[in-house]
Amino acid sequence: MSEPLKENIPKVEKAIKAQKLVGVKGMNDILPPDSARWEWLEQQVRALMARYAYRNVRLPILEPTALFVRGLGEVTDIVEKEMYSFEDRLNGEQLTLRPEGTAGLVRAVVEHNLLYEGGKRLYYMGPMFRHERPQRGRYRQFHQVGAEVLGFGGAEVDAELILLANDLWKVLSLKDVRLELNSLGQPAERQAHRAALIAHLEKHSDVLDEEAMRRLHSNPLRILDTKNPAMQSVVEAAPRLLDFLGAASLAHFNAVKAILDANGVTYSINPRLVRGMDYYNLTVFEFITTSLGSQGTICGGGRYDYLIEQIGGKPTPAVGWALGVERVLELIKEQGEALPNLAPDVYAIIPETAALPVAMQLLQSLRACGVSAQMHAGSGDSMGSMKSQFKKADASGARFALVFGAEELAQGLVAVKSLRDGEGAQRTEPLNTVAAWAHSLQSAL
Ligand code: ATP
Ligand code: MG
Repeated sequence: MSEPLKENIPKVEKAIKAQKLVGVKGMNDILPPDSARWEWLEQQVRALMARYAYRNVRLPILEPTALFVRGLGEVTDIVEKEMYSFEDRLNGEQLTLRPEGTAGLVRAVVEHNLLYEGGKRLYYMGPMFRHERPQRGRYRQFHQVGAEVLGFGGAEVDAELILLANDLWKVLSLKDVRLELNSLGQPAERQAHRAALIAHLEKHSDVLDEEAMRRLHSNPLRILDTKNPAMQSVVEAAPRLLDFLGAASLAHFNAVKAILDANGVTYSINPRLVRGMDYYNLTVFEFITTSLGSQGTICGGGRYDYLIEQIGGKPTPAVGWALGVERVLELIKEQGEALPNLAPDVYAIIPETAALPVAMQLLQSLRACGVSAQMHAGSGDSMGSMKSQFKKADASGARFALVFGAEELAQGLVAVKSLRDGEGAQRTEPLNTVAAWAHSLQSAL
């Protein structure tokens, strides 16, 4: 680096500080060692999805605003107050950072005519954006894993998705997760229930809060979801949607339950379970934990047989769920799971810069054999004292230090020293039999 640039660094740092260039509120940096847990979770998800034969999709983070307004419903929390929407100043397009994954997935499926040869089982993972009040388990950029099955109307796929989520909790060793189920029936059944519900709520309008009053005629079902203690008794006495279901809706619901029963999945029926988006019908469900306070819903989903048509496709049944990655990871942490081990297998100690070419060539060969190797990096002029290098080696958590001393190198050897107490003395290994001793290192790890 040239001198003038070096001199500039403090100035730049000062400028950054003065302008308070810090991350956006509610949007987190995911850094080591926590990121290891994220990677581990993602690996578990991928492996499980493969076992269920679900295929991955990767979709844009920006979508036309109209997609969410049309797909999620104009009077939902998300569309009313949580979306990051803006106009593209270059061409005037109305755009939104995706607040959820289903609408975009349906858009892509319709746009690419993915269902022309039958149904699809798909999954995605990635960041979502909602302008909410940040708190534990609630962020403005958060991450979801979503699983969606499109093109099948039977209860068996609703059940399969629930079994899949349930298996994921097992794979992740999550304890204290319960399943709540409900059926929202079909639009005509909801219509009949809605009239009865509005009549009931109007009778008790004196206890309804401002939000409930606002929703009374636009989205009364959502009032049932209220957390306001003053409204609990009115909400509990409200007509139950389940009582308005016809034979076909009930049969669908019972078929889902029968499959869950046969598979030993326990659940409770919550007749007041509604979901935040307008697009659901028939089965809806949530997985909830009591370990995370009020942000205890880790996964939610249901059937959305009318969404595809609403977004411009042919009428096609579909069902899916999405889980909140931050909440699941928080639960894993809460339950005391240890972080995955990040330590390298070996740490390379390099007394003199002259040894770098040979040392680095050897490390490349070790890595090619699957050994994880961290190399000591110096200041440019010197590699640092042996003492400080050994300190770094210890701090890295590596099991072995490889010491590339000039004397050994001259004889075509490298010293291998255990960094764990009482594990034998230093030995030397020939540089030209890397594969064999990489193997011996791995079996000792
Ligand atoms: P909530 O009632 O907690 O606001 P929601 O009904 O808005 O949840 P969904 O849209 O169903 O949530 O999203 C599925 C999952 O994504 C939720 O169960 C939750 O685990 C997670 N999630 C939703 N919003 C956030 C957020 N702002 N921060 C972190 N996770 C979130
Ligand atoms: Mg929400």
